[in-house]
Amino acid sequence: MKAAVMMEFDGALPLEQVPDPACPRDGAIVAVRACGVCRSDHHAWKGVDPDVVLPHVMGHEFAGEVIETGPECRAFRVGERVTAPFVLGCGACADCRAGEHTICNRQHVIGFTFWGAFAERVAIPRADFNLVRLPDTVGFTAAAGMGCRVTTAFRAVVDRGRLQPGEWLAVHGCGGVGLSAVMIGAALGAQVLAIDINAEALDMAREFGATAILDASAGEVGEAVRDITGGGAHVSLDALGVTATFENSLRCLRKMGRHVQIGMPVGAHATPTLPLLDLVYARQLTLHGTRGLGANRFPALFAMVAAGRIDPARLVTNTIPLSGAEAALRAMDRFQGHGVTVIDRLDC
Ligand SMILES: [Zn+2]
Ligand SMILES: [Zn+2]
Repeated sequence: MKAAVMMEFDGALPLEQVPDPACPRDGAIVAVRACGVCRSDHHAWKGVDPDVVLPHVMGHEFAGEVIETGPECRAFRVGERVTAPFVLGCGACADCRAGEHTICNRQHVIGFTFWGAFAERVAIPRADFNLVRLPDTVGFTAAAGMGCRVTTAFRAVVDRGRLQPGEWLAVHGCGGVGLSAVMIGAALGAQVLAIDINAEALDMAREFGATAILDASAGEVGEAVRDITGGGAHVSLDALGVTATFENSLRCLRKMGRHVQIGMPVGAHATPTLPLLDLVYARQLTLHGTRGLGANRFPALFAMVAAGRIDPARLVTNTIPLSGAEAALRAMDRFQGHGVTVIDRLDC
């Protein structure tokens, strides 16, 4: 099969002919029809993700068709349209059995701990537990565009932030996952304030249902948010994972507010300093981490899509061939672009 193989960090991603992946006994081989390009891929490409060992194939936001199943895979058949969460659970531990797949101690992460879907085929272990059937109404490109971003935003807003109708949701950073959170927050009947420094991203946030927008470069964000929301946001998301957005997210909350950390903080951003006394202690804030979404929660998300409450296809602003992956990642160096880029031609 063809794959975009990373031989060095921050380097070219040449299309190479590599051996087809072997089908795990309990797994399935999926012919990739579309794969999103995500900021997590950018982290892997830069060499800041400790799981990634060279040579490597990235890509964790895929959708495709089952072309082979192992003898212990019973729930899926050749020809079915599928996707999977990027965090794959073991299916047997206490956390997996409790429905919390994303904190499984024996998890695998597609495109990080093993080769991913910047390739014509990807192997998915423990398919019965981890594969998710795509509804007919969701196309491959839209499903890949949902990838980790709509799913991650769903867990952040619904399962972790527990956003309620009428509450104010502040979203710091309107890239793919931030826009997804805006869309889901609006669908839940919350008032959504979108914050970014990119005018195009803020325009998109408006289109996705943001009640208000704020240019973060214009001044002190925490104070501005408290003004707009009449006292502060009930739930605030750092969708970027950098110290400035993390701090802004805490500063913009009202008392007893809930912060959800979506963006993965790497490098110097992994150990921010902040005024714990004034913010977290005095205002009695709650801090949640979030990462991914278990396969068991995809049906609730697909139900929102089927009901017409969200339309993830609208997030996809750009489709490219596999050979365009490097340029798409390079654009993220400068936080350029907006919306979601999806690879929809895997053979060129
Ligand atoms: Zn497990
Ligand atoms: Zn992703």
